[in-house]
Amino acid sequence: MRRAAIYARISSDPEGTRLGVDRQIADCRRLAADLGWEVHDTYVDNDLSASSGRLRPEYVRLCDDVKAGVVDAVLGWHTDRLHRQPRELEDFIDLIDAAGDVLIRTVMAGEVDLETADGRAFARMRGAMARSEADKQSARIRRKHAELAAAGKLAGGGTRPFGYTPDRLHLVAEEAAIIREAAARVLAGESLRSVAGDLNERGVRTTTGGGWSLQSLGRMLRSARISGRREHHGQVVAPAVWPAIISAADSDRLRSLRSRAAGPALAGRTPRRYLLTGGLLRCGRCGTPMVSRPRTDGARRYVCAPGPGFGGCGRMATVAEPVEALVAEAVLQRLDTPQLAAALSDARRASTEAEALHEQVAADEALLDQLAADVGARRISHREWMAARQPIQARIDAAQRRLSRISPTQPVDEYAGRSHLLRDAWAGLPLTRQNAIIRLILDHVVVTPAVKGRNTFDLNRFRPVWRL
Ligand SMILES: [Zn+2]
Repeated sequence: MRRAAIYARISSDPEGTRLGVDRQIADCRRLAADLGWEVHDTYVDNDLSASSGRLRPEYVRLCDDVKAGVVDAVLGWHTDRLHRQPRELEDFIDLIDAAGDVLIRTVMAGEVDLETADGRAFARMRGAMARSEADKQSARIRRKHAELAAAGKLAGGGTRPFGYTPDRLHLVAEEAAIIREAAARVLAGESLRSVAGDLNERGVRTTTGGGWSLQSLGRMLRSARISGRREHHGQVVAPAVWPAIISAADSDRLRSLRSRAAGPALAGRTPRRYLLTGGLLRCGRCGTPMVSRPRTDGARRYVCAPGPGFGGCGRMATVAEPVEALVAEAVLQRLDTPQLAAALSDARRASTEAEALHEQVAADEALLDQLAADVGARRISHREWMAARQPIQARIDAAQRRLSRISPTQPVDEYAGRSHLLRDAWAGLPLTRQNAIIRLILDHVVVTPAVKGRNTFDLNRFRPVWRL
């Protein structure tokens, strides 16, 4: 695991993007967690009084620790927090070259890495004083790495990837089966936390002999490796020389889950205790989505919540258990009807669109790769590169957003035409999976007011609005 240093700097910010040091550190910590890096130490300089080039004791300590190998990664909020002048940047590049394997990442412009020639050139351009000539030698080496990647070859180094033999070229059957299972469960709407917990309970270990964390499981499922594709700086660049465990389409779907802020699967929140969350129940008085909120005695219920962020009327509530049972039963019954089977096969046609989108993304990624090669070989300038890259990246982002919305039949695919099996399995499914299945079929349920004086559970209070 990378041992990372977080560097933050308080400065008199001429660009007006004043940023508190706490925020810088918090964002860096989040980035570290996302990358699966351990934060070794935090280094903070106060630069307010120094006009330029004056003492930065913590920066000096940071450089010493990089040199001594105490840390092998540096996180900053922005490159301009790390280096104030081209001279410092150049010294820093010399330092990390001497130290060997050191990774630099920033929260803003996360792609501005200093271990590639492209990243360095970009950082220098920001410093408005390029010294790119001095880097030609290492650019050649980096380009070699990029070529290896483009050929789908091994990068080497690091621990053995789960699912593959130590030479990384062949499958370990039992581990590959675990990957397929985990991928299918996450794609079906189950949370990473739930899957990781289950693997740990079953005694499945990572290749370092440890338990599964949200990070390690997420990292594995998002790696292009398991789909038999080579990744270089976060982009899929080529088919790999090793075999695939899951399909490219499934891999793209798993990789797109990361960017979906609201996506339940990779968000890593605590397991939900409520089944009908996310707008599945609506207040029959004002139409506001009802939210889960226990009564003071702890009884689970859903309410129309008033106030900021909710905006409801505050005049509707229902206890959770009976309405959850009712909705689950209604959904299971509906799954049994031939009309629904027909609707599901319609929905499956959406996967044709998904295939087309995957092809488009692959073509665009190849285009980006070509552009990166062009800029590396100085056939085009960085300005041209950025201009050309922008619309392509926007197209990829749009396609991936669309992809993350279409995979509608996935939660019930394994039960297609066998809904009695789903009924048997229902109680044992995790809530996230149950929620995904309900969401597939049911748009929402309108909850109407209880009849005064009646205190038994009244089925007529609930009116479902079906999606399929
Ligand atoms: Zn209401």
